[in-house]
Amino acid sequence: MIVRKRAGPVAVASGNGSRAVEVAVAKMTGGSLPVDAAVAGVNLVEDDPNDTSVGYGGLPNADGVVELDSCVMDGPTHLAGAVAALRNIKNPSQVALKVMRRTDHVLLVGEGALRFARAHGFKEEDLLTERARKRWLRWQERLSEHDDWIEPGGNALPKKKAAGAKPDKDRKEERDPGTIHLSALDASGRLGACTTTSGLSFKIPGRVGDSPLIGCGLYVDNDIGSAGATGRGEAAILANGSHGVVENMRRGMGPEEACLEVLRRVDHYTRIQRLLDDKGRPAFQLTFYAVNKNGDYGAASIYPSRFVVCTGDGARKKRTRPLYESR
Ligand code: ASP
Repeated sequence: MIVRKRAGPVAVASGNGSRAVEVAVAKMTGGSLPVDAAVAGVNLVEDDPNDTSVGYGGLPNADGVVELDSCVMDGPTHLAGAVAALRNIKNPSQVALKVMRRTDHVLLVGEGALRFARAHGFKEEDLLTERARKRWLRWQERLSEHDDWIEPGGNALPKKKAAGAKPDKDRKEERDPGTIHLSALDASGRLGACTTTSGLSFKIPGRVGDSPLIGCGLYVDNDIGSAGATGRGEAAILANGSHGVVENMRRGMGPEEACLEVLRRVDHYTRIQRLLDDKGRPAFQLTFYAVNKNGDYGAASIYPSRFVVCTGDGARKKRTRPLYESR
């Protein structure tokens, strides 16, 4: 289903972005650039200790340290900024904005990103909440085979595509994914976007997901549209997913169809046994969100999910178009 709404303001985001899209639209109505409006919106979620997938309160890596990934992209200048594996700074999206505006680079990682943030006066703080620490401790205590180290042969193809491993329930329960992506279009046709996350919980320290990678967790082309991703970052990286969504829109697809087409490719290329469920389908979730230059928007996911949109009259929750109707 393509939802028609001529031009902006429009803000579309992952399901955890209800307030974020409202803030983003209010900012754009007040004259902010979409990229700044997107960051202002996602900051609410980064600051929220109860969202365990983003910013402060995010679930930590395998060492119990919160490491954040974020990127921003500005349509009018076609510039982007990103930080990966950034520690101790609550709002990585704001640091990503600084990378875009105050360096000649696109991506800073780890210690270098932290030093850059310090130089710009960002306050360092412990991002690990008690709630997140307890979740991590529980994970540690039950580790066994549920980490991200794979034994030799563990990435093998199945004998037949339809004979995947049974999804591991414990692993799924404890590693709830999450991220916020927000794409924004203003009334004068400018586009901008931001994606921010604490990444996959209990990840190998230093692991970088799709969220800070331009073309994977987010992509903006001011002539065409903006797109972003949440879900299994490795799959979004291998598909160069957000770039693919924008390129599909360039070829004339509506936002929802553009997202779905990339998911079909993800499905096609998901081949190794441990990533398949017992029906031979991806054993993970991945969602793409998109808005085009006309203000049409949409989202699609491997399995049913929700997204939010705001066009000025409050946030509305909507269903994504799923590739498969049920898990
Ligand atoms: N895409 C994020 C990552 O892989 C996680 C998520 O959205 O659930 O780091």
